[in-house]
Amino acid sequence: MIDQFQKIAVIGAGTMGNGIAHAFAQCGYDVHLIDMSKEALERGLATIAGNMDRQIKKGALTDEEKAAAISRIHTSTTITGSVRDRDLVIEAATENQEIKKKIFREMDENAPAHCILATNTSSISITELAAVTKRPAQVIGMHFMNPVPVMKLVEVINGYDTGKKVTDDILAISQDLGKIPVSVSDYPGFVANRILMPMINEAIYTLFEGVAGVEEIDTVMKLGMAHPMGPLQLADFIGLDVCLAILHVLHDGFGNPKYAPCPLLKNMVTAGHLGKKSGKGFYTYS
Ligand code: NAD
Repeated sequence: MIDQFQKIAVIGAGTMGNGIAHAFAQCGYDVHLIDMSKEALERGLATIAGNMDRQIKKGALTDEEKAAAISRIHTSTTITGSVRDRDLVIEAATENQEIKKKIFREMDENAPAHCILATNTSSISITELAAVTKRPAQVIGMHFMNPVPVMKLVEVINGYDTGKKVTDDILAISQDLGKIPVSVSDYPGFVANRILMPMINEAIYTLFEGVAGVEEIDTVMKLGMAHPMGPLQLADFIGLDVCLAILHVLHDGFGNPKYAPCPLLKNMVTAGHLGKKSGKGFYTYS
């Protein structure tokens, strides 16, 4: 554990937020997990316990380590009082610029002066989020991959004003979590989603145009390109609403029609078929 960053807060207890809380708590950090929804907090804690049980079965964690990690996670439905003594706050709320700007204002007003404000955004400009705070040099992207406890990569995104020491600190914390960080610049989609989302969108167009079915498309990419998961299954895991939001950011940010989201993706999101988290996307989940 890195001494100057013992106290962490994670805002958002959904797919990513609970994974980030899990990774930090397992590594010895004290974690405040914050979500405006009490149910999301309960679901988040249950997911963390279930994922730790899986680690125990694999021999990667002991019962005692699980109990200690869970005891380090404290939940809250408000940001105000929960970030006052934190050294690092990571925002992992819904991928929506207005929601994130509001959270960044609130984090900035309530977190101590030394605290770094990070975001797990998949695509929203770090520079724009930093601009609503009075500490743009201490704002940075810390883009974990899903599922967080398993995936090694952290894409560390430097906003226009992010300070070098802040970048170095976040690279060091990421390594302390057992991750491999990669430092990149702040342009739409950064590196990961600028390359991944056009592939997922193209797979959805391939389905939309009737070129092949869901399983056929995923099988081609799995067996032909050695991808561990097909693009449609991956889209379900990421969340179709998250994919759509990222494509909008790429489309608006570059003004290039090649990023226009497929009408089928828009329809599925409108109908509430969001992938694994809603039980139905390109596949059905029980
Ligand atoms: P999610 O929908 O699973 O969870 C979002 C959570 O944020 C919800 O529980 C919601 O209640 C909470 N929330 C919304 N507004 C809030 C507020 N004002 N205050 C407190 N909590 C609030 O979303 P997710 O998939 O976990 O994505 C979270 C972030 O991580 C997004 O920025 C997304 O782009 C990014 N991300 C997602 C993935 C992925 O695979 N899902 C991967 C990398 C990064």
